[in-house]
Amino acid sequence: MYFVIIMAFALVLSEKLPPEGFSLISFATANTVAATLGIVLLQIPVIALMAGIGATRTHYRLDGTDRGHDAAADELSFFQHMCMVTVAGFLVTSMIFTPWARVVRETWDLDRFPLLPELVLLAPMMAGITIGWAMSYRAEKLLRLDAMREPDAQEPEKIRDVPPKRDNDAISALRSAKKRPVAEGTGLFAFLFDKMRHQVLILAVPMCIIVTAKHFLYAYAEGPADGFIPLPKDPTTRMLIISCMLGTVSFVVLALAPVMLRYIWATEPLPDGPLRKRFERICDRIGLRYREILLWHTHGMAVNAAVMGFVAPIRFILVSDALLESMEEEEIEAVFGHEAGHVRHWHLPFFGIFAIVSMYAAGGAMILSSIIYTKFFQTNGEQIDQAIVQLIALVTLLGMWLFGFSWLSRRFERQADLYGVRCITPDIRQCQARLCPVHGAKQREGLCIGATNLFGRTLSRIAELNNIPKDAFSWRHGSIQSRCNLLDRFKDNVDALRRFDTSILYIKLALLSLTILGTVVAVWIYYQPVMRGLGMWNPTVTAGAP
Ligand SMILES: [Zn+2]
Ligand SMILES: [Zn+2]
Repeated sequence: MYFVIIMAFALVLSEKLPPEGFSLISFATANTVAATLGIVLLQIPVIALMAGIGATRTHYRLDGTDRGHDAAADELSFFQHMCMVTVAGFLVTSMIFTPWARVVRETWDLDRFPLLPELVLLAPMMAGITIGWAMSYRAEKLLRLDAMREPDAQEPEKIRDVPPKRDNDAISALRSAKKRPVAEGTGLFAFLFDKMRHQVLILAVPMCIIVTAKHFLYAYAEGPADGFIPLPKDPTTRMLIISCMLGTVSFVVLALAPVMLRYIWATEPLPDGPLRKRFERICDRIGLRYREILLWHTHGMAVNAAVMGFVAPIRFILVSDALLESMEEEEIEAVFGHEAGHVRHWHLPFFGIFAIVSMYAAGGAMILSSIIYTKFFQTNGEQIDQAIVQLIALVTLLGMWLFGFSWLSRRFERQADLYGVRCITPDIRQCQARLCPVHGAKQREGLCIGATNLFGRTLSRIAELNNIPKDAFSWRHGSIQSRCNLLDRFKDNVDALRRFDTSILYIKLALLSLTILGTVVAVWIYYQPVMRGLGMWNPTVTAGAP
């Protein structure tokens, strides 16, 4: 879902789309608007139909048994994926193969307004997504309630069979919370609003601020040269300065996103009590600093935890209501340890570095495509279509995120898992395994067997409670099964464990080197034109330089 939202904003930010000649409908004929709207709006009934079938089939599979529950979770997850692929397909089709962008920007002349054209461009997609959620509301709720029911007698080995303990510290923390939404009473509207803010607004709000900033900055660039901040006359330098300003705004907005998140999601500080004390003790022990530990209200729909924020003053640790409600305390600690791992291993800053590398790659692809075009395809001096260049950059960028980011994120998730295991090891009350590397007779390097088992159980339960099949692949996390398998392998294979730690170190070093390389290349390409544009270029000083 997050990927689709990122892609949506990347597409609407590329103002030169669609490329000439790609469109299935020619612009500026009488029927352009009607035909385009026909294609763009078609997604709403299509998604509704798909989600409807998925919901009916999910409902039908639920028969009160564990096997029925798993089949239903598979069914729902399959249809949700299909809906996402369809939404993404319609998005790309409408932005690249139809004149939808030109209809909104030129025919309806909405480009005069900040943010409005982008919102209109994405409105059909949002309508499709919302209809899809609405159609699966009942199925999702039933599945969630089914996960909480008493377990089958026939399958005693099932993970779900550890019934949640009542009246523990977590439950009492929930009780003393100020906001008290009731899970059972979640109506359709609250469900949709939760989905919207958890899956869309968290990205869309910062992106909308960036889109608005872009509107005003570009308007400023086209204005007179002696405005509030004087800009050079040379158009290339001018655009470069504006792009840098937009980059700075984007960076600030994204860095402040955790503060927005606190208000976009329904949160409150985790009430004082034994649970909060325990979290604080863990943070002290591992040296994790933060602004606040937040209790995150999801109407009991999401068993989840998260850490947001690059630096301690704006770093928030979130634990969801359903997590506290349905998990054992030591399991909650395991989840907390995993989140702490993301912070302690600097995962968020490295995602930022990855973002910079992907920008450089996209920029490199643009320059390369222009060079290749001029060298091999240029026939009579015409310039390459800027929309094509933009499309190439976009494909590079999205490809990097779809494959590169997803791969990096999966590596980092596993490192956070390992950290989680190590984090809960001192609190493991009894580790029966005599062979345990940490607690056994022969003290050696490795993972505590008790802690690893507890962590694996926690992952499985989270998957179960969130209606995620264990083998379902996720863009950012991989599958729960593969994470459990990896931990199992590390339990008694110190070499593999060490190799894994080293490989992550190399990945981080590679990212840093690529950033430095990209910066050097960018400076090398742009230094001379910018200096000349600013009237500061003095060829006598650097005679002989490239
Ligand atoms: Zn994680
Ligand atoms: Zn142990």
